Amino acid sequence: MALVITQACIGTKATECEKVCPVDCIHPKEGEPGFEEVEQLYIDPWTCINCGACMAVCPVRAIYPEEDVPGPFKMFIEKNADFYRLSLEEFHKKWPVGKSRELLRQWMAKQKAQTGQQQTSAQASS
Ligand code: SF4
Ligand code: SF4
Repeated sequence: MALVITQACIGTKATECEKVCPVDCIHPKEGEPGFEEVEQLYIDPWTCINCGACMAVCPVRAIYPEEDVPGPFKMFIEKNADFYRLSLEEFHKKWPVGKSRELLRQWMAKQKAQTGQQQTSAQASS
C-alpha cells in the first residue's frame, strides 16, 4: 500500500515531503517538467515503500496511507496514480486545475442533502 497526497497540498507544494523520501517517488520536484503547472505533488504508488517519512513532515497533514484516506479524498488515490501512468498532457486533461475542489464541493453537497433527507424522514416517522 502506498501513501497518497490529498487536498491540503493544493496551493501549498511546500516540498518538505519529497526531500525526505528515501526512494524519490514524490514528484514533480521544483525544476522538473510540470512543477509550475501542477496544483499539488503526487506519490508514485508503484515505488512508494510505505515508510511514512513524508507523512511525518508534511506541515498541512495532506498525506494519508491509502487505506486511511477519508471518504471525500478517495479520488486522490486515482489522481496520484494518474500522474505517473498518464502523460502530462493526458493528466491535465483528466485533472484540470480546480477539478478536485469541484468534486469535493459536490461530495459535500451530496452528503448534506442525504443528511437532510434522513432528518426529515426521522421527523416524519416520530
Ligand atoms: S509536504 Fe505536504 S504540502 Fe508540502 S508538498 Fe508534500 S504533501 Fe504537499
Ligand atoms: S511513504 Fe516513504 S517511500 Fe512512500 S512517498 Fe512517503 S517518504 Fe516516499
